[in-house]
Amino acid sequence: MNESTPKDVARQSAIFIGVISWLAIITILFFVESLEFWALSIVIGVIIEELSYLVIYKAVEKYLNHKINVLYKTISKIKGGSEASFNMDDNVVELANQDVMEWAEGQIEEITLLRETDSFRKDFIGNLAHELKTPLFNIQGFILTLLEGTLDDPEINRKFLSKAEKNIDRMTSLLEDLDSISKIEAGVMTINLERVNIVELSTELADNLDRKSKDSNVQIKVKNSSDFYVMCDVNKIQQVLSNLLVNSLNYGKDGGKTRVRFYDMGDDILIEVSDNGIGIKESDLIRIFERFYRVDKSRSRNAGGSGLGLAIVKHIIEAHGGNIHVRSTLGTGTTFSFTLPKSDIA
Ligand code: ATP
Ligand code: MG
Repeated sequence: MNESTPKDVARQSAIFIGVISWLAIITILFFVESLEFWALSIVIGVIIEELSYLVIYKAVEKYLNHKINVLYKTISKIKGGSEASFNMDDNVVELANQDVMEWAEGQIEEITLLRETDSFRKDFIGNLAHELKTPLFNIQGFILTLLEGTLDDPEINRKFLSKAEKNIDRMTSLLEDLDSISKIEAGVMTINLERVNIVELSTELADNLDRKSKDSNVQIKVKNSSDFYVMCDVNKIQQVLSNLLVNSLNYGKDGGKTRVRFYDMGDDILIEVSDNGIGIKESDLIRIFERFYRVDKSRSRNAGGSGLGLAIVKHIIEAHGGNIHVRSTLGTGTTFSFTLPKSDIA
């Protein structure tokens, strides 16, 4: 019965009415013992059944049309769909039920997404305010101290101004990172592809970080036994490599080592930046590409990090059609590996 179509229901009801009518007629005609009347009773039963079928069929069709269209109109108000058109040979109620279930699932997904976006927006604004507040308060503190009497001491002047400048640098780099992120998300990041010797680029960047590498006492070594060429936006990949190398210095161990290696993967070149630094525990590992995510807030704060670096890195690599992975063991070290399309021009 559950699987019956409206047409089946109309037919079954009509047969039922037909049989009842026929029984009624033959009961009345029971006393008239004539063969013609028996035949007539059967014909009348069949006619009643057919007429009932027609009437019930039309009534059921009209009823369903009305009810189901109301249902579809309610759904499509939100869904933007069209009116329902159904076939009386189909299991209409079951089909409508399926459509409603599909619609409800879509609604749930949409609501979840909206909730996530909303909570993400709140987090983002909170994080941003916090990140900007810290250097701004520091600058305010230095200026106030100078104004309150130490202005005459040139030694202190210089010291405080240079501290203020460091905080301004931090705000500038935070705003630059935010600018990168918003451009990426708005889809307006342009990638200017060119053929780049990735080994040479990495070596250059490692040389530029010589001073910072000495300060953190972590040595960077680029394995440059052969050249590898990729198609990439040189400025953006420079940003990626710098972020990864600086991270390896910031989160390295005293006397540590950072290695940059290259592997030919056929269509792509795999670039690996590995360190033997503090490492990242598994529960943090899945979150480090999120914006503003830092494992150890206080340590990153000292290192000047705002947790945007890896989010930008991931976006840039994906915009090149590559992907980035991280492996890490707490206390042992971390390896970031990413792919870039190989340049096939010889
Ligand atoms: P910035 O925006 O200045 O780069 P950040 O370095 O804190 O700030 P990310 O580069 O996105 O931000 O890194 C996110 C977090 O991942 C870091 O705060 C750190 O906890 C962890 N992390 C990143 N690289 C390493 C690494 N090589 N070794 C250990 N932890 C790392
Ligand atoms: Mg970083």
